[in-house]
Amino acid sequence: MIRIDILTLFPEMCSAVMRESIIGRAQKKGVVRVECHQIRDYAYDKHNRVDDTVYGPGKGMLMMAEPIARCFEDLCTKLGKKPKLIYMSAQGEILTQKKVKELSQESNIAILCGHYEGVDERFIEEFVDEEISIGDYVLTGGELPALILADTISRMIPGVLSDNICFEEESLYNGLLEYPQYTKPAIWRGQKVPEILLSGHHENIEKWRKKQSLLRTKQKRPDLFEKYRLSKDEKNLLQND
Ligand code: SAM
Repeated sequence: MIRIDILTLFPEMCSAVMRESIIGRAQKKGVVRVECHQIRDYAYDKHNRVDDTVYGPGKGMLMMAEPIARCFEDLCTKLGKKPKLIYMSAQGEILTQKKVKELSQESNIAILCGHYEGVDERFIEEFVDEEISIGDYVLTGGELPALILADTISRMIPGVLSDNICFEEESLYNGLLEYPQYTKPAIWRGQKVPEILLSGHHENIEKWRKKQSLLRTKQKRPDLFEKYRLSKDEKNLLQND
C-alpha cells in the first residue's frame, strides 16, 4: 500500500486521471491511495493569492512559499508524519525506472506541482527532499509530471498489476528493452507471427525473447546496451546470431 498526496492548484485535473483505469481500480482495491490537495485553500489573504511577481527584473509570477508550506504542514499533521516531498521540476534529477523502483518502497510520498515561473526558492530549501524532472523540456505546470510519477510508482505496488511479472519483464526494469509482442490473429495483412511463438516450446521461446530483447536494446538504445552487463549465456545468444 502506498499513499501519494499531490499538492497542486489543479486538484481536479489530477484526481480525474487517477480515478481511471488501472490506478483507479488499484485505489478501489485499497493498494494505492492518491489524494489531491488544493494549495489555494491555504492562501492567507482576502484575494486567495497563491502567486506574486518575481523580485528583480523580468516578468512572470511565482508561487508563494507560505500557502504551500501551510498545505504541506496540514498534510503532515493529518498523516502524523512528514512524507518524502518531491517537487516536480525541470531542474530535477531525470526520472528513471531505477528511481521509480526506489520510490515505490516508500509508504507515503507527497508531490508538489509548480506553476507559472515555479516556486519561491525558500520553500524548496526548507521542505523539499528531492526535485524530479520528467525530461529535458519545460511544461506549463507540474501536474502532468506529477501524474506520470504517481502512475509509474503505483504500478510497482504489489496488487496493482495482475502479476509482478508484468513489470519485471517490461522495458527498462532490468536495463533492457522488452522483446516484440504479438496477439491474435496469427496472420495479419499477410504478416505472420514469428513461428517460434506458436511452437509451445517454452524454453526456446524464453531464449528467443531474451535475444530479441538484447538485439533491440542494442539497436534502439545503444546507451543502455553499453551499460548492460551481459551474462555468459547472453553473450552466447548474441554470438549465434
Ligand atoms: N522557471 C522554471 C525553470 O526555468 O526551471 C520553469 C517553470 S515551469 C514553466 C512551471 C512548473 O512546471 C515547474 O514549477 C514544474 O513544477 C513544472 N515542470 C515544468 N517542466 C517540468 C519537467 N520537465 N519536469 C517536471 N516538472 C516540470
